[in-house]
Amino acid sequence: MQPSMFNVQVPVAERNEVFLMNTFTDAQVMVTPDVVELLDRLAAGESPREETERATLEQLAAHGFVVTDRAQERRDLETFFREVREGTDTLKVTVLTTLQCNFACDYCIQGDHGDYNKTAARMSMETAARVAEWTESRLERVGPGRLVLTFFGGEPLLNLPVMYYLSARLHASCEARGVQLLINVITNGLLLTRDVVERLNRYGLNGVKITLDGDRDTHNRMRPLRGGQGTFDKIIKNVHEVAHLTKIAVGGNFDADSVDSYPALLDFLSEQDFASKLSKVTFKPVIRAKTQTAAKGLIPLTAVAQDGKPLNGACMTSAGTGVSRVCDTCNFVDEKMAFLRDETKKHGFATADGVHMGPCEIHKNNAHTIGPDGSLFACPGFAGDALQSIGHIDGREEAYRTQALRNFDRLQAWTECNDCAFIPVCAGGCTVAAHAELGDMHAPNCHKTSFKAGVVTLARDAARELAAAN
Ligand code: SF4
Ligand code: SF4
Repeated sequence: MQPSMFNVQVPVAERNEVFLMNTFTDAQVMVTPDVVELLDRLAAGESPREETERATLEQLAAHGFVVTDRAQERRDLETFFREVREGTDTLKVTVLTTLQCNFACDYCIQGDHGDYNKTAARMSMETAARVAEWTESRLERVGPGRLVLTFFGGEPLLNLPVMYYLSARLHASCEARGVQLLINVITNGLLLTRDVVERLNRYGLNGVKITLDGDRDTHNRMRPLRGGQGTFDKIIKNVHEVAHLTKIAVGGNFDADSVDSYPALLDFLSEQDFASKLSKVTFKPVIRAKTQTAAKGLIPLTAVAQDGKPLNGACMTSAGTGVSRVCDTCNFVDEKMAFLRDETKKHGFATADGVHMGPCEIHKNNAHTIGPDGSLFACPGFAGDALQSIGHIDGREEAYRTQALRNFDRLQAWTECNDCAFIPVCAGGCTVAAHAELGDMHAPNCHKTSFKAGVVTLARDAARELAAAN
């Protein structure tokens, strides 16, 4: 017997106890320090001294804090990742209706910059029909209980006919097969109207995610229209009109210049009459590529919330370095993520807990991203880079796609993470960020400090709940 490699602990001084969590089983308990001492002795190879200690270890083993041996635990981890990869409960299809965008955000290479929108791809109705056929064939082959259909871009609302067509057709396909359909939209919010929401509600709209990059002035600077006009007021007005019709999640992208404006944004949001309707508020750092080549085509994104939980991998993309290297940018990002998470909770909004972040969809065989021309991608973050396409819905075979597919198939950055306790919830970090920032999608993109801060928050919450219950 020995302690699990996935145990993490946080002393809770005010209770003279220790919060113990196992990231593999998700067990969370508050224990007295002698239990931690017992685990330490077990790790050092000592046997339990008395019957009560033996009983405690059995209880801990039942929750995964104690395991038979590390080799078995490693095998269990492999099994876990295989099950994540091969899971058939949910089929996820993210459709980029267009790469065009009506914003000119300074951190995004897409959008209304120069003549980008003149040439940016846009899905035709013919392609949309083929996307629907392809998705129906996946429904037949996989047999999931649920289809999660996410519209993304560019700005997906710039191609409403395709969105409505796919929603209606796949709604009918799912109904015929007894499959639940959940539709998500990730939009900048400028074109989000009551009409759009009411129409999608007929087909199974689950929620809409909009982006606010800081308080009014900061957002208007970060996410302007091409002429420099601000977009904040219009987005807020739109949210007012639809917040009672669907779940609205708010996401924000921060960098060193904008991060300090987020508390003011949270103040503002908490004063709005739609505040209680927001399903989730999450922030993430902007990915900034180290080289132009790596930056080409990568899309900064955050996955939409689903049922109040992250979509198993909340695209925790962030600037930083690999597992064995530490840099100031990385620490800055992790500290700010923890700060913003705490601020968000203080304002009464649900947010990602900073621990349950993955494995994200890039590790799942039944999660697909489809570009405007029908190209398939491993995850939405790669969808702007044609050379990263891993196939096409029409089944065409092209050497570069086959090569990319092989490349993505062997992703397992976590195997370089040694005995890190966060492997089950991190899987080596965001592959898009590793590709953009490290130039190597197979390297871990490590934000362990952020995970540790997340566990501290969980410990604090558990202590608060226990105090309230007594
Ligand atoms: S690799 Fe990154 S961008 Fe892609 S799904 Fe995972 S967390 Fe999101
Ligand atoms: S990348 Fe994730 S799993 Fe790997 S060492 Fe860092 S926190 Fe741990």
